[in-house]
Amino acid sequence: MGEIMERRKTSSVRIGTVGIGDEFPISVQSMTNTKTDNIEATVAQIKDLALVGCDIVRVAVPDMAAARAIEQIKAQVELPIIADIHFDYRLAIVAMESGADGLRINPGNIGDPEQVGVIVKEAKKRQIPIRIGVNAGSLEKGILEKYGGHPTPAGMVESALQHIAILEKLEFYDIKISLKANDVPMTIKAYQLMSKAVSYPLHLGITEAGTIKSGIIKSAVGIGALLAQGIGDTIRVSLTGDPVEEVRAANEILKSLGLKEYGPTLVSCPTCGRCNIELAVIAEQVEKKLSTINRPLKVAVMGCIVNGPGEAREADIGIAGGKGQGLVFRKGEIIHKVKEDELLSVLFAEIDKLIEEEK
Ligand code: SF4
Repeated sequence: MGEIMERRKTSSVRIGTVGIGDEFPISVQSMTNTKTDNIEATVAQIKDLALVGCDIVRVAVPDMAAARAIEQIKAQVELPIIADIHFDYRLAIVAMESGADGLRINPGNIGDPEQVGVIVKEAKKRQIPIRIGVNAGSLEKGILEKYGGHPTPAGMVESALQHIAILEKLEFYDIKISLKANDVPMTIKAYQLMSKAVSYPLHLGITEAGTIKSGIIKSAVGIGALLAQGIGDTIRVSLTGDPVEEVRAANEILKSLGLKEYGPTLVSCPTCGRCNIELAVIAEQVEKKLSTINRPLKVAVMGCIVNGPGEAREADIGIAGGKGQGLVFRKGEIIHKVKEDELLSVLFAEIDKLIEEEK
């Protein structure tokens, strides 16, 4: 695999058991879309997220019932929990008392400096980091006016720096930052500027990215472009839909840049005039099989014998189609020649064998 730019040097924070920044691996975050005070539903969703490789989960805390629910949720899940809070400092205090591992709150939005002081004191005591989350859609009026009435990358950075200054004045440095917009170039530029302005870890994301298909593409382009420049310490893909898909997409982004080894990877050719088998159907079935496997494994599904095994030499195991028959190969070496209708069963048996051997 080729190499991406060296990762930017940052300070680090700890969200429960997960380190962010510095030398810590880039982590994957998501956010539940259940009502947080529906403890059963929230716990079930967090467990689903953990199963697909989520490292940290954020829950909305719009009221006291949600803030208090964190205690019972924490007792039932392994993932560290971040409480997402706007405006009301008392929610932050109760969330911390209930065991939240991190806060997402913009101190400038609290208004009263005394109330910010109370949050910071509690966060310091409990060593709970705060994420400042600037969103292009809710920039402060003064900043918008200064930058021509529209959100701009410089305006987003200025907003973040103002929130940071409030915390630093209180000698609080356990900070990470996000600067999200739904505009990909604006988000990229904002993070680039921010990465030069401070050394706090950065949480990457494209906000309101959209439904599954367009959201994944926008997130992959925006988050991927930044990660390739060495910028970013934790990521969240935002999608309108099941957060499990957010985590799957985030892991694929990290895997594609060689930043994480997680679960199997399917390599499949686009097919061309040389292909004589139902490759799309086969690839779908292989994908289904791989979704049951929880370890790194590269499987190739190639359309033809001419180029298949050679093109997929890096794969652990794979198949290449032919006319009425196909090859099964392992690490580029052909190990079976079978009839087309036996291809899948032989491949699946070889996958199971390989996993068994490497246990
Ligand atoms: Fe075409 Fe064969 Fe390459 Fe697939 S592996 S794209 S069928 S040449």
